[in-house]
Amino acid sequence: MSRMLTDYFGENTFNEVTMKERLPEDTYLSLKETIENGEELTPAMAETVAHAMKDWAIERGATHFTHWFQPMTGVTAEKHDSFISPSSDGRVIMEFSGKELVKGEPDASSFPSGGLRATFEARGYTTWDCTSPAFLREDSSGVTLCIPTAFCSYTGDALDKKTPLLRSMEAIDRHAVRIMHLFGKHDVKHVNVCVGAEQEYFLIDRKKYLRRDDLIFTGRTLFGAMPPKGQEMDDHYFGAIKERVISFMHELNEELWKLGILAKTQHNEAAPAQHELAPIFSTVNIETDHNQLIMECMKKIATRHGLTCLLHEKPFAGVNGSGKHNNWSLVTDTGENLMKPGKEPHENMQFLLFAAAVIKAVDKHAELLRMASSCPGNDLRLGGAEAPPAIVSVFIGEQLEDIFAQLIANGKATSSKQREKMRIGSNKLPYINKDATDRNRTSTFAFTGNKFELRMVGASMSIADANTVLNTTVADVLSEMADELENAADFNDAVMKLICRTINEHKRVIFNGNGYAPEWIEEAKRRGLPNTASYVESIESLTFPETIDVFAKHNVFSRTELEARAEINYEIYAKTIIIEARTMVEMASRKFIPASVKYMGTLSQTIESIDNVTGNKICTGAEREILNECCSNINDAVKTLDELKIKIDEAAAIENMKEKALFCRREIVPVMEALRKPIDELELKVDSRLWPVPTYGELIFEV
Ligand code: ADP
Ligand code: MG
Repeated sequence: MSRMLTDYFGENTFNEVTMKERLPEDTYLSLKETIENGEELTPAMAETVAHAMKDWAIERGATHFTHWFQPMTGVTAEKHDSFISPSSDGRVIMEFSGKELVKGEPDASSFPSGGLRATFEARGYTTWDCTSPAFLREDSSGVTLCIPTAFCSYTGDALDKKTPLLRSMEAIDRHAVRIMHLFGKHDVKHVNVCVGAEQEYFLIDRKKYLRRDDLIFTGRTLFGAMPPKGQEMDDHYFGAIKERVISFMHELNEELWKLGILAKTQHNEAAPAQHELAPIFSTVNIETDHNQLIMECMKKIATRHGLTCLLHEKPFAGVNGSGKHNNWSLVTDTGENLMKPGKEPHENMQFLLFAAAVIKAVDKHAELLRMASSCPGNDLRLGGAEAPPAIVSVFIGEQLEDIFAQLIANGKATSSKQREKMRIGSNKLPYINKDATDRNRTSTFAFTGNKFELRMVGASMSIADANTVLNTTVADVLSEMADELENAADFNDAVMKLICRTINEHKRVIFNGNGYAPEWIEEAKRRGLPNTASYVESIESLTFPETIDVFAKHNVFSRTELEARAEINYEIYAKTIIIEARTMVEMASRKFIPASVKYMGTLSQTIESIDNVTGNKICTGAEREILNECCSNINDAVKTLDELKIKIDEAAAIENMKEKALFCRREIVPVMEALRKPIDELELKVDSRLWPVPTYGELIFEV
């Protein structure tokens, strides 16, 4: 019997309703205080919650629990313990204490720590994050209670992505509340960051996936000629969804709804085999956890449908890659969205101040934001012709542009361009109101009416880093603004002046034009905006003096933590490139070259026998031409292959992580590209029956 969505939504989470039902009232109220206001959690409370959580989980079939955390690899980690405990009569009872709920000590010394933790002092702790609900994971092997946790070292340094995110939320909360109080809104106790993360992904046939080492080892294709058709017809974008894909989406939605995740929209994306899922926004910490769960469920459920989900930023050259759109806003505990301009934005000083603060933060720390939205895979996207460029700029739309222009020219704004009714040209169609801003799909950071949308984040990444940067840098600007305004004699006058000054000083980052146009690169250069070509070169921004200052001031990262993170990023980059390079060597030497040689063998034999029969060599002119071209491609491939092997060995010998990473970018990436070329050319010549792996056409069109 099918069940109503409203009945099972959130049934696999220990959410507010469940807590209210199962906890004694005083415990429930104290826990709520902890969640909302950070009040201390007592051991007695933890004990009570642990019991209730265990009973709930066991009733639903759980045998194990795990502290679920997000180490700096960007994916989630867990270590499972069962609830069982021996009883004196040789049987077992199910136990779970407050201590086990609150603190775990995974022997997780192999996670990257960037030197924060030597193996001989490998203690790392996971601690319960009660602000994100515990959940049950159901899979074929049973049910596990997952407890979202933060992960830190013995010395209290953050070893994960959650801890700094939580710290940054506190910083922005503190300073945004100060501003709200200045505007007379004393009932505001908290300002929360809300985020909705739209997730792009590819689905391909699993059997074909398993025949490609590059997909298995690196998540993307390292070789592959373009099929006769790509995405030029735009017939996949928003197209009818294929049966097999829709049944995947159906199961995915159900699983996500049970986990209390507000999966809302789904559609086909621009590239063939590409899709998107968007949930309704939540508090950023929960959204970050949810996005991890969404990615995890996508992979798991795809397999059940004979599919594989690719979350890599650029699984296929020549068609669009995948990103994540991070929609960001500030919402008060009284329910007010601070990014909402209202009907008359030019009179809405509060909105203009917050918008100006965001613009300033993004301008001041553009490079850092670019870095936090990047990963090795995103290098193939950012700056490519399809995704936003690597230049951070803010799109504000017509209405705000007009108001800012008035502010800069006159020190005040007296009007707002209003929305128009849109005539569609048929009386049978209803009138609709036009939005005051159109969309700009080419902007890296766009104001979209009631939120800012950061469009640079890579599809496979955790959204934690980008949001930690946004929250902290905006918090910093708000703190300076609050300092200034708290001492102002005439508040209204001071706010007006502050808005004008801020916009004036940071207008260079505002850009409403086409971000994909080559002229923008020139223009951005004239404006002095950073445009770092690659992710690995942008890692440096983690240790810029202004970065260290801003994070230290708001207790989000210490200098040591930042240095460790830079080290880890270099390490992950170098490892990623070396694995890709090795996979290319393996595939070229053991698959593509042998297949091509075999084809050449057949071709030579054919030529020889035709020559023998016809008694002249003129007949086989075209065949000889093909043979010569194959020969030349193979020569190029073998030569480049040797070069690549040498470079891999050279990289392996470099000890310093930063040098190693930069070497990979400078010396290995170009050779990888050079190796791909002759192999892709061979693919177009060699008999398709001999080609050892599924082609692009087979991968993206035959799902
Ligand atoms: P758009 O049409 O501009 O892409 P959508 O309404 O489709 O906007 O929403 C895109 C994403 O932004 C969704 O995940 C949505 O929940 C989220 N979103 C909407 N409003 C806000 C907000 N105020 N703060 C954060 N995210 C939001
Ligand atoms: Mg969007």
